[in-house]
Amino acid sequence: MREAAFSAILSAMTMQALFARSQTHVPFSGTAAFDEPMSRHTTFNIGGPADLYLRPDAACFVSFVTALLRLARAQAVPVFILGGGANLLVSDAGIRGVVLDTGSWIGACTESETLEGGSLPLAPVRSPVDRSAPEGASPSPFVWPSATPSPRGSAPKTPLGPPAGNAVHVKFRSGTRTDDAVRWAAAYSFSGLEDFAGLPGTIGGAVWMNARCYEHAVSDILVGTTFLDECLERVTAPTDPAAFAYKKSPFQGRKTVILEAVFSLRPGEPALVADKTAARRAERAAKGHFRYPSAGSIFKNNRDFGKPTGKIIEELGLRGFRSGGAQIAPWHGNFIINTGGATADDVRRLITLTEEKAFQTFGFKLEREVIYVG
Ligand SMILES: Cc1cc2nc3c(=O)[nH]c(=O)nc-3n(C[C@H](O)[C@H](O)[C@H](O)COP(=O)(O)OP(=O)(O)OC[C@H]3O[C@@H](n4cnc5c(N)ncnc54)[C@H](O)[C@@H]3O)c2cc1C
Repeated sequence: MREAAFSAILSAMTMQALFARSQTHVPFSGTAAFDEPMSRHTTFNIGGPADLYLRPDAACFVSFVTALLRLARAQAVPVFILGGGANLLVSDAGIRGVVLDTGSWIGACTESETLEGGSLPLAPVRSPVDRSAPEGASPSPFVWPSATPSPRGSAPKTPLGPPAGNAVHVKFRSGTRTDDAVRWAAAYSFSGLEDFAGLPGTIGGAVWMNARCYEHAVSDILVGTTFLDECLERVTAPTDPAAFAYKKSPFQGRKTVILEAVFSLRPGEPALVADKTAARRAERAAKGHFRYPSAGSIFKNNRDFGKPTGKIIEELGLRGFRSGGAQIAPWHGNFIINTGGATADDVRRLITLTEEKAFQTFGFKLEREVIYVG
């Protein structure tokens, strides 16, 4: 059964069977691997094998993903959409079905006509932590398909409407590393993304999670999103603020693939944007975020508890507590770190222990932020 399903997926990858039927020809390029260890694709460095791991190149991304999802649905093969793996705890048994890595679907551009000189030239974006790119390789130039600069002064044709005031609408493809997006914005002195400097993961994951840094949520600046909906139609929808909340987005619980996110930024003072971006990145490092592999905060904060979850865990005396290779960070109660060789089971034991102790001691039901997969 498994073999049959995957050989169907693989034949779709060659785009022979599928496109012969639909009279279309779309070449596939990218990375494909059976039994790919997910520990290579999560910031925890934890996770067993994915049955089939696929990372389509940008050139065929949308057509391939559409075809893959159609076929996987027909074959009843589950597909997990992977961003940067920065908020995941993948089980030691791994992931059954297909893992679709969005990491090659990168790029950024502006549609704004309010800037001096009209649309800015595209800049290649490449992640410094992109393990798939060989060391020293020059960043591959990307072409934004819809980025033909419109004549100066004409309103951008977008279902999201023109930017308000002197705001700038900037689009990022979903696989773009969030930190690369921040660098890109800073390079053009666009203000609004500075607080997300150093945030691990991709734009797609940040939108899906409605990531939040320094009291600013992604939804505060998100104008709209382009995604493949459940019918595999490409839809561009403006942001409905009511559909977003703390660490909640309307994409959770839906089988959609986020393709692009449009943010409303402002032209900023170059030195101020650069300084704030650098300061935020440095603050993360100083807080020990990158000392060990982790998935960031394990639990959400809850205002009703009157204090941050990290403080609650500290008061429970759990800082530094270990299970195998996993440890509750001695400097941050809400971080669990992989000190080396930690398994997903090690981490889960610490999570369960913390949940039980928080409930027994304070009556607090902690809500997990990290996502269990597999
Ligand atoms: C050191 C560290 C610090 C962190 N600090 C913060 C912080 O300050 N604030 C904060 O909010 N978070 C923080 N995080 C958590 C993490 O960075 C965010 O949740 C991030 O937005 C996850 O993005 P990702 O691309 O890695 O998503 P993943 O972890 O890969 O996926 C998360 C979810 O999004 C879905 N998804 C991803 N991309 C797409 C897509 N294109 N289409 C549809 N679904 C998609 C996945 O299926 C999954 O359900 C931290 C993590 C680490 C490791």
